[in-house]
Amino acid sequence: MSDAHRFDPTILREYDIRGVIGKTLSEADARAIGRAFGTIAGAGTIAVGYDGRLSSPGLEAALVEGLTAAGRDVVSVGLGPTPMLYYACYALDVTGGIMITGSHNPPDYNGFKMMLRKKPFFAGDIQALGQLAAEGRFASGRGTASTVDMLDRYVDRLAQEFTGGRPLKVAWDAGNGAAGEATRRLAARLPGEHRVLFAEIDGTFPNHHPDPTVPKNLVDLQQAVADGGCDLGIAFDGDGDRIGVVDGQGRILWGDQLMQIWAEAVLKERPGAVVISDVKASQTLFDRIAALGGRPLMWKTGHSHIKNKMAETKAPLAGEMSGHVFFADRYYGFDDALYAAVRLLNVVAGGDEPLAAMRDRMAATVNTPELRFPCSEEAKRPVMAAVVERLKAAGATYSDVDGVRVTTADGWWLLRASNTQDVLVARAESSGEAGLSRLKAALADALRAAGIVPPDLG
Ligand SMILES: [Zn+2]
Repeated sequence: MSDAHRFDPTILREYDIRGVIGKTLSEADARAIGRAFGTIAGAGTIAVGYDGRLSSPGLEAALVEGLTAAGRDVVSVGLGPTPMLYYACYALDVTGGIMITGSHNPPDYNGFKMMLRKKPFFAGDIQALGQLAAEGRFASGRGTASTVDMLDRYVDRLAQEFTGGRPLKVAWDAGNGAAGEATRRLAARLPGEHRVLFAEIDGTFPNHHPDPTVPKNLVDLQQAVADGGCDLGIAFDGDGDRIGVVDGQGRILWGDQLMQIWAEAVLKERPGAVVISDVKASQTLFDRIAALGGRPLMWKTGHSHIKNKMAETKAPLAGEMSGHVFFADRYYGFDDALYAAVRLLNVVAGGDEPLAAMRDRMAATVNTPELRFPCSEEAKRPVMAAVVERLKAAGATYSDVDGVRVTTADGWWLLRASNTQDVLVARAESSGEAGLSRLKAALADALRAAGIVPPDLG
């Protein structure tokens, strides 16, 4: 069994494989991932793409080597955002796809997002891949490797979706991530005035980190919107599967606020449809979906969970607080931030109301940011179990689809274990400050009762 390959166990994560180059992740790992995935996939062709990180081309070459050694044919779609690879999985005749990307992580990280037979390959699938490699049970064969230029086809598909309207002034920020070139080409295809910041793909991220959920990463975009008198600004994360938006006044619209806008547009066409968001989202979103005649569904955080739930419920739209947005309405149900941007532009350009006015119409709440505090992997389960036990005994109203989300007369609080880090994540939301204080106190009590010293909840 000289072929057996052991991965650093920390890289086999819930939603993807991810590690630090030269520490926990190497080209030998990429080759083994190719051989193992190729073995599991069986017959057929695999599409492969990669992001702009310095380590990505080397990992890609090794991955392709592994896939072809397992007998799979490979079609490389080249450098681009993750949704371009997902799109290739639908547009090309392939069995599955692998995207090499470190997403929004620091430059020395990299990883693999996988899809097989149009479903996310995650959780148990990833563990099984690790097991297969450890046992060296690789298939062997001699697959072929070819390339296809996907970028223009992908941008064509995005541009096709634009439905026109009043000309807009839009600032874009690709954060030097893998969506840079696609963003530049898409903006060039749209009417109106467009200014694209940091479109040059650079894996050292010289301007700011490509993570639009962190407000400081949106400062350049806010400045560009102000300088240009733009209608709105749109930012993408490092691999283009998460979106960040600011309105004409430079105010950030979070994932659950953007979802209110997309939900309205989709439900107009599809009355009564299921619309999904995750447990971190505002109650105002779920209420709004119901008021629009839709069926709100709260589900687990994590793009793989959301994609599977969409397929199961035939929901035409889903979106997470984190900025992953999934349209199965006129599209394929995967998270594509560039596509979501076009659908937002359709709403804004198609009406007279500025984005800022839409934001002002939304029900106002006060909430905590996402609070994260350390908790070891071993402690997560007992802590969460103790919290649930206590809520049950108290007859509390809660949902346990992902951690616990407790609803009281004041609003709600959430406590869940992160699937990707040794942390617990908490959040609370109320209609007013007094209510929020009571919710934070209840959360702190729950933690204390479970034997955790509550962090400063602000
Ligand atoms: Zn991403």
